[in-house]
Amino acid sequence: MHKQNFKIILSFLLILISNLIFSQKKFTIVLDAGHGGSDHGANRTYSDIGRVAEKDITLAITLKLGVMLEKNRDFKVIYTRKFDEYPSLSDRTNLANRSKADLFVSIHCNSSQRPTAYGTETYVQGPNQNNENLEVAKRENDVIYLDEKDKQIFGSYNPDSPESLIALKLQQSKYLESSLLLGGLVEDNFVNKDKRFSRGVFQKNLHVLRMNAMPSVLIETGFINHPEESHYIASDKGQSEIAESIYNAIIDYKKAIDRKTGGAVAIKKQEPEKPAEVPLKNDFRILLMSSPTKYNDGDPALKGLNYILTIKENGQYKYYYAVTNMASVRDINLKSAKDAGFRNAFAVGFMPNQKISMGYYTIELYAGDKLNGNSYILQNLKDVERTKDSGVFYYTYGKVYTLEDAVKLQKELEGKGIKNTVIQKVYK
Ligand SMILES: [Zn+2]
Repeated sequence: MHKQNFKIILSFLLILISNLIFSQKKFTIVLDAGHGGSDHGANRTYSDIGRVAEKDITLAITLKLGVMLEKNRDFKVIYTRKFDEYPSLSDRTNLANRSKADLFVSIHCNSSQRPTAYGTETYVQGPNQNNENLEVAKRENDVIYLDEKDKQIFGSYNPDSPESLIALKLQQSKYLESSLLLGGLVEDNFVNKDKRFSRGVFQKNLHVLRMNAMPSVLIETGFINHPEESHYIASDKGQSEIAESIYNAIIDYKKAIDRKTGGAVAIKKQEPEKPAEVPLKNDFRILLMSSPTKYNDGDPALKGLNYILTIKENGQYKYYYAVTNMASVRDINLKSAKDAGFRNAFAVGFMPNQKISMGYYTIELYAGDKLNGNSYILQNLKDVERTKDSGVFYYTYGKVYTLEDAVKLQKELEGKGIKNTVIQKVYK
């Protein structure tokens, strides 16, 4: 009798425990292979491997990543597409929202008008508007106009209206922190594991992210029109490495989220321990503006900001503020720049000591009227080069291949009393 009772209790307990285990919600991830069907995305034909189309690469990476995630019982994977078809952007985001997904990962390939552009980028939802990233936004958002349904949902959206920005900010603040965390982990894996060049994690108003009520990232896995990189992202090896990097990032992301939520419930009073911040592989500078005009340190145009690095590129002076490899500092720097009035400022990733792939760096000593022979510069420096463009004389000095060396050279010149020089990137 006593034994019987015990057995009943035991079996009841077993049922209870197994119920608990099975009712635990799985971590749901929506995998979104960008483009598809009639929407080919970026594409280019090479003589050796033929046509490389974004829609095929995004699907291949997505399926590989999906297989890895499905092997892990913690995850439930939902695909926006598993074939060469085109779900509309609203289909994709509706699916994610309906599924109450915990994470949305959209996979894309990049392309640029500059054939030298390469590397990976991860986008998270954000209100930044700037010209360089605007091109990405335009390209990704172009597909909105593929069907009528999307037109209705996205057509009235005006990213410039203050109301839209307020709504965006509210939505974004909830998920931004998590999205940034995942984005950083993805880019870290690309750099550390796959030895790729990371262009960084950026905030951008992309519709496919904007309509999601969950942390969301859009990963640009490489440039279709960069000869070397397109071969990598089109290869089985490349696609497997990319999928694995994203997988690793998702695992670490989930661990971090679990620590956060689990810790909050279990130890209520205790202050949650803050893990020491790990430095990023890339240095980050804040691009304040690009201008054909040269401003020296202290110019009112720089709005009181110090630590400005100016790099001249294609006739434009680019003004970068501060440098750090800590994500938290980078974010503070960006905020400082915005607070100073550079509303379109954004963070740019620089790989330390990276050799310039085409061309070199030189120092622009002076631009303006022709210098005469007994000017300070010409008296104190040998091998100064002079060019003339649209009536302006440009004097440059030296040829180095990393930004760090260029900064060093610039410092040396300053030691010789030659100030207000600019690092110039020359493409050859
Ligand atoms: Zn795309």
